[in-house]
Amino acid sequence: MTTLNVLSRCVAEYDPHALPVHAAQAIVRQWATPVTTAERVPLHDALDRVLAEDVMSPIDVPAHDNSAMDGYAFDGALLDTPRGSESVTLELAIAGKAYAGHPFEGSVPARSCVRVMTGASMPAGCDTVVPQEHVTLDDASGRPSIRFSAQPLARGANRRRAGEDLAHGHAALRAGRIVRAADLGLIASLGIGEIAVRRRLRVAFFSTGDELRSIGEPLGPGCVYDSNRHTLFGMLRRLNVDALDLGVVRDDPAALETALRDAATNADVVLTSGGVSVGEADFTKSLLQRFGDVAFWSLAMRPGRPLAFGRVWSGAQPGHGKHALFFGLPGNPVAVMVTFYQIVRDALLAMSGAAPQPLPLIRAISINAIAKRAGRTEFQRGIATRDAHGQWHVTPTGSQSSGVLSSMSEANCFIVLGHDIGNIDAGDTVDVMPFAGLI
Ligand code: AMP
Ligand code: MG
Repeated sequence: MTTLNVLSRCVAEYDPHALPVHAAQAIVRQWATPVTTAERVPLHDALDRVLAEDVMSPIDVPAHDNSAMDGYAFDGALLDTPRGSESVTLELAIAGKAYAGHPFEGSVPARSCVRVMTGASMPAGCDTVVPQEHVTLDDASGRPSIRFSAQPLARGANRRRAGEDLAHGHAALRAGRIVRAADLGLIASLGIGEIAVRRRLRVAFFSTGDELRSIGEPLGPGCVYDSNRHTLFGMLRRLNVDALDLGVVRDDPAALETALRDAATNADVVLTSGGVSVGEADFTKSLLQRFGDVAFWSLAMRPGRPLAFGRVWSGAQPGHGKHALFFGLPGNPVAVMVTFYQIVRDALLAMSGAAPQPLPLIRAISINAIAKRAGRTEFQRGIATRDAHGQWHVTPTGSQSSGVLSSMSEANCFIVLGHDIGNIDAGDTVDVMPFAGLI
């Protein structure tokens, strides 16, 4: 079995005592193997799921050439009549009507047109539409007709081609795509009501700490309510994984072992919070070395320095029984969120079968000076605003302590201060990662 330590050392800049964020991301990515099982689900149940196979278009969309305007359809060859320098006026008799869903069935006589509404199939022999606002209608006589200038029209104008949106036999959507609202409509436009998606990733999570109390329990001296499990629940729900809440586990090796084995048996991934910082981690470490393959890292990032990563097995020793990918997140509530978004999220998406996209960053002017040490990546909680000229400005929320969760609630973005960056002066431009769509 290739162990984490062997694999990790192959990553440039591997240093378990100050591992750069991108190096940690690279190691994690190598271990994030997608689930392979697929299931067929009704269209609506596919929302936010990952496509297991390409969706091939069984038809042309639209199925027929049709009009893009309310107007009059005619044979565009008529536009080719010799043109002088002065504009050419065409006069065409109106042979009938076509509405969306009600095609004109007959054949169109020479020098005639058909009244068409947007979405109506193009009558046979017609390939061009003159918009109704460009014609003069003469329906006083028994033989209604239109007159219009040919000058502004090119053959094929205002006509949508069959298959212009999606062509028969082509992939309309690729495997690995997370199905969003537009995709539901797109799949429906193909007449497909059921599609193959990957099974949901199963993620078990629990909090560790003797001081933690659950909602409803009295708070004794020195105790705090467990918030991490609820934050994790929210973040996992957003990724549409099956979240398995294993509760609060005491700082006790036997209880921890039971919880980890339970997670390895029932889940693809296990997330814990707390108990991975130096000193306290010792029994966790010896425990995980017995039935896991886990590295304890000190990440060069703030918040979120301590992180354990690897695999745990349900069997008596590594390689035996079922296994789950393991992330031992720090205990501090803000650090849990930052490490989740920066390290865990991409792994969960990749394991779900999706191709993780880099999270969008925008450039903003820092309103304040920010103290920052080069040699680690910092994620400050910020409030970004856009001024009347479209320029973004950002200010850190008050406390940046990793225990102050209200700073996450108040913020609308992370201010991302890269590994090599030092102190920021007021007026400097910084990268900002908006929470919209992320949190
Ligand atoms: P630890 O990493 O276990 O040393 O925890 C660091 C800090 O985070 C301590 O102040 C803990 O009380 C706090 N903490 C750990 N787990 C949780 C949790 N689930 N909810 C709220 N605070 C926590
Ligand atoms: Mg603890």
